[in-house]
This record gives sequence, C-alpha cells and structure tokens, in this order.
Amino acid sequence: MIMTEPGGKTAVFRFYGELNDFLPLWQSGRERTYRFGGKPSVKDAIEAQGIPHTEVDLILANGEAVGFDYHLGGGDRIAVYPVFESFDITPLVRLREAPLRETRFVLDVNLGKLARWLRLAGFDTIYRNDLEDAEIAALSATENRVVLTRDRLLLHRKEIDHGYWVRAEQPDAQIIEVLRRFQLEGSLRPFLRCLECNGRIQAVEKAAVWERLEPKTGLHYEDFYQCAGCGKVYWKGSHYDRMLAKLKSVLA
Ligand SMILES: [Zn+2]
Repeated sequence: MIMTEPGGKTAVFRFYGELNDFLPLWQSGRERTYRFGGKPSVKDAIEAQGIPHTEVDLILANGEAVGFDYHLGGGDRIAVYPVFESFDITPLVRLREAPLRETRFVLDVNLGKLARWLRLAGFDTIYRNDLEDAEIAALSATENRVVLTRDRLLLHRKEIDHGYWVRAEQPDAQIIEVLRRFQLEGSLRPFLRCLECNGRIQAVEKAAVWERLEPKTGLHYEDFYQCAGCGKVYWKGSHYDRMLAKLKSVLA
C-alpha cells in the first residue's frame, strides 16, 4: 500500500541504466525521494514507480544486496540495476538464477511481426493475436518463456519472472533490440521454425513437395524445407531467405 500523506516515511531510490526508460526524462539518472507508509516490499515500491520487476536484476539497500521481499525502511537508500547491466556484480547476489538455458518467448498480441522475425532466427516463439494477459503469464511461468510486450503493466504480473518491455516500435528495429538485449546475435538458427505456426521445419527432397510448388520455383531452386506442423514449404531463395539476409546484414 502506497501512502502519500505528510508524515509518512521516505526512502531514496536511484535507478540505473535502461531502467530510466520507464521514468520521465527529467528524472532520468537522478535520485528520487519515495514516500510510503507501513512496510512495503522493495518490489512493490519499485513497481509503484513504474518499473516492472522483470527488468530488475540487482537491488542494493544501503549498499547490501537484497531480494524483492526486502521491507523498505525509513531513510533507506536503494540502488536498482537492470538485467545485463555491463559491470561485474558476481560478488553480489543476483535476483534471478542464470539466464534461461534455451531462450524461448511468448509474445503479447500486438507483436505479430516480431514473432515472425524471431521464428525466422530460429527461436521458439508463441504468438497468437487472441492470447489473454493471463494466458501469456501462465505460458511464461509453466514453459519458462520470456514475455515480450509493449505493455509494461503486463510485466507487473507476479507469475512472470522473465520478461522484457520492447522499446522499439518498428518490427525490424524490435528484432535487433531483442537479439542484442538477450545476447542472441550469434545464436541464429535459420530454417528451423515455421514463420506461420512456430512448428519445426526440416529439409525435404524436392520430389516430396513438388506438387505444392509453382512450376518456376520447382525448376529454379534445389534446397527445400517443410513445416511439420502446417506443411508450409520454404526454400532457399524464398521470401524467408531474403528476410534472413536482411537480418544478417543489420546484425553484421
Ligand atoms: Zn507451420
């Protein structure tokens, strides 16, 4: 419970790195006085200031690393660091265990184009334009998927441990942002996932898909792939290949 009446206690917060993306520009990088009553958890106090807990990797209270359940006290000085902030915090305690071993995603409903880019790059990506917030949170928790969203409030859900608020608005900038953020630029595995359904695709003989091809395609190309989920056929030289070339050139 956040109270603002005079006489409440105060703590001083400072947010580092890209956590400032969630604050008004004029407050960026500055100390903020936070007024509260009772003994809120530091997690609640951080989210009350607009920053999803999924973006936070380290909290120092008066110089000591603390967990999300730390109870805020009057006069506390709180430093909050983002995930992947580029300085060595190994002697301290991160809030999360090591990053997920295999990075898998579940995307919010307005990120359909980003979903196709991620599948193109080979990442297991659940996307449907009718997923409810509760379903997205449940998929994240049960299948260890990173939630990607443009809606920062979605990331306030307590079931979501791994999530990221996508800053960019254009899909081809979003894919670059996400690959960099999760350090996946070197992990591209093209021709692994179907752009339409996220199914696995695998190499097939031309003869096996011949009947599904336009005559020109069948004559001009040799390497074919087919989705085990929906049956869609891909080939080197297709739209898929052109998107991939674009992605590689931007990352290079
Ligand atoms: Zn498919």
